Amino acid sequence: MKALKKNFIDEFIDKSKSKGLKITPQRIAIYKELIKSSEHPSAETVYKKLHKKYPNISFDTVNRTLITFSNIGLLQIVEGYGDPKRFDPNTESHHHFRCIKCGSISDFSYKEYNELKIPENYSELEIRKVKVILEGICKKCKNKKDFSK
Ligand SMILES: [Zn+2]
Ligand SMILES: [Zn+2]
Repeated sequence: MKALKKNFIDEFIDKSKSKGLKITPQRIAIYKELIKSSEHPSAETVYKKLHKKYPNISFDTVNRTLITFSNIGLLQIVEGYGDPKRFDPNTESHHHFRCIKCGSISDFSYKEYNELKIPENYSELEIRKVKVILEGICKKCKNKKDFSK
């Protein structure tokens, strides 16, 4: 399994074209911002970063664009952490570690988790994806002595 796709932008262009989504400089900028980050950013985070470079871009545009991207399969919405939504450009099967102190989410792959058995009473359901979420304290937070900030 690939940890990271080779060329995100190629995939972006291919997928947009095949789904009839117009490729605009703004959409490219939003997508680039997302793939630059490994922190599963929220729309707010993406917006704040883009706003410096593109003062005309609105939060609403960023938010709507990210939802559109997820509708055409360009990214996943990370579930289970409430609002705000967090976006993930890695659409390959992978798992997450989430820090309960700083809220950071990082990717990891682990073959054995991909092969987890589905509980018997769920066998009639059509399971599409199995995701494991580990929660705990990340390295950064563990090493931080001052928790006031
Ligand atoms: Zn942390
Ligand atoms: Zn992820």
